[in-house]
Amino acid sequence: MTIERTFSIIKPDATARNRTGAINAMIEQAGLRIVAQKRIRMSRQEAETFYGVHRARPFFGELVDFMTSGPVVVQVLEGDNAVTAYRDLMGATDPAKAGPGTIRKVHAQSIGENSVHGSDAAATAEKEIAQFFAGNEIVG
Ligand code: GDP
Repeated sequence: MTIERTFSIIKPDATARNRTGAINAMIEQAGLRIVAQKRIRMSRQEAETFYGVHRARPFFGELVDFMTSGPVVVQVLEGDNAVTAYRDLMGATDPAKAGPGTIRKVHAQSIGENSVHGSDAAATAEKEIAQFFAGNEIVG
């Protein structure tokens, strides 16, 4: 068992359709524990910093517009191999390619409006968690 933490965002397309609880149920059913959670409206600056690695990509502007278009729920998830476990639960970036039973297959609308974010590696998770949570907001 390697207990680790990952960073998750329930994106604006999902909060707009009242899917927070349904997504949280899938997260908990997969054995991940929600050890921190808050609903926020991301500023442009926060979104640009968060997705800085995609700055040169053609969809960057669209991505920042989308992530600031409505409320998001930022979360810290804890569990055995949480980074990989959550990526598996999310499914492929494009919901049309996501496997059955994954969050994106069940809830996402398109490759852009794809309901959830999850860190791609443990080091990224640490950085992403620190952008949105203070240590005393995470209760394992
Ligand atoms: P992820 O790790 O599966 O979230 O995928 P990436 O790191 O490749 O992309 C980050 C986010 O950018 C995705 O979750 C999508 O919201 C968005 N994105 C990726 N590819 C596209 C695209 O072709 N068009 C648009 N509009 N958004 C995209």
